[in-house]
Amino acid sequence: MTASTPASTASSKPVRTRFAPSPTGYLHLGGARTALFSWAYARHFGGTFVLRIEDTDLERSTPEAVQAIVDGMQWLGLQHDEGPFYQMRRMDRYREVIGQMLQAGTAYHCYSSPEEVEAMRERMRAAGEKPRYDGTWRPEPGKALPPVPADRKPVVRFKNPLDGDVSWDDVVKGNITISNREMDDLVIARPDGTPTYNFCVVVDDWDMGITHVIRGDDHVNNTPRQINILKALGATLPLYGHVPMILGADGEKLSKRHGAVSVMDYPAQGYLPEAMLNYLARLGWSHGDEEIFSMEQFCSWFDLDHLSKSPAQFNPEKLAWINNHYIKLADNARLAAMVKPLMEQDGADFSNAPDLPKVIGLLKERVNTVNEIATAAMLFYRRPAPDAALLTQHFTDAVKPALADFAARCATVEWNKESLSPMIKEVLAAHQLKMPQIAMPLRLMLTGQLQTPAIDAVLELLGREAVIARLQPYLA
Ligand code: GLU
Repeated sequence: MTASTPASTASSKPVRTRFAPSPTGYLHLGGARTALFSWAYARHFGGTFVLRIEDTDLERSTPEAVQAIVDGMQWLGLQHDEGPFYQMRRMDRYREVIGQMLQAGTAYHCYSSPEEVEAMRERMRAAGEKPRYDGTWRPEPGKALPPVPADRKPVVRFKNPLDGDVSWDDVVKGNITISNREMDDLVIARPDGTPTYNFCVVVDDWDMGITHVIRGDDHVNNTPRQINILKALGATLPLYGHVPMILGADGEKLSKRHGAVSVMDYPAQGYLPEAMLNYLARLGWSHGDEEIFSMEQFCSWFDLDHLSKSPAQFNPEKLAWINNHYIKLADNARLAAMVKPLMEQDGADFSNAPDLPKVIGLLKERVNTVNEIATAAMLFYRRPAPDAALLTQHFTDAVKPALADFAARCATVEWNKESLSPMIKEVLAAHQLKMPQIAMPLRLMLTGQLQTPAIDAVLELLGREAVIARLQPYLA
């Protein structure tokens, strides 16, 4: 796709990215954007995009949430090349690596009880230090460890370097350096032997050969710990890019208060996937002034440059504007297939009614969502029931003979806009009326509402038979 080389500490390796959601709810907009960036970067370099389900939090992970993620990715068309890999199915592998680290001395058993650890932390806090594990069980050359308490199962801790720094060149945030003195000896396995979150991520990124970790910046604190463990395993480090959060228009973290945050709420509201993708791509990334682009263009541009350091703001109006753009481009038959079930729910009658794709062609210029098309299109597919007061107001005695004249001409006029429009003008001239005087009652009688597209377009689409039938009750 492009001749440039991937930004990488191991630039000769083929690009492998991953999306690693925790299935605890739905696919939210932030997750979808992370997935999009990881997917596009892999596509840019002809690499591999891996889907990994981080389901080790048994209390919060559900099969429904996994399905919601898969559905969301599918709707967006973010096809993974490998996976989904489930962490819960990789427990043996994590245990194996823990065993190897214990053997190699890069991890150790710690028998301090949770109460003892809390007491250590309390002491350090009181001394004005950063609370951390004090290394009681950390083996060092020449150090005698305490006697192993009976009946206590140990945790396994990673032997974090005591001195020096961890440093990485974050693709988004630039250089980040953390002192090892700031870091605990991380628990990598619980007393029952189950591995902990950061450890599973490390083993997976290593085993799956991930070259570029693109994720939300809520994970930036995990990165130095993960790098230290990767180094202890002798792994090649991936390149990290921590993308800032998506905020609501009020600057607060995006939440339900700001509207739908689940990606799958958007198809339900009548958004097109290509609009959502285009919108998400611009949240925290730019390519000059380009606002509207295809995923093919995005993949050809997206090389991890031009990612913003500051949080992006979610703007529902802009999403609606982009959706309107893609609705205008969309094939009318495709939109009809989306609109029809919605209209059926609303009781639409498609017998002896205008062709739905043609109606959509007339209506789609002015709507922001597919659902709005469905609402607007109903005027052609239900028996009009105009408000009596409006009818009295618009269907005056002066208009009655003109309407009869119009109805009579309807029987013979050639049925297209080009002939209908001059015919209406002839009726107006003959009865000395102005356009709204006939168009308004016609709208009411034919559709039950005053707001419709141009009357000649409405007439043409409704068809001769339906027009004559709908006018019949008003002809004396
Ligand atoms: N499972 C984490 C989440 O859903 C992502 C972990 C990662 O990308 O390293 O937030």
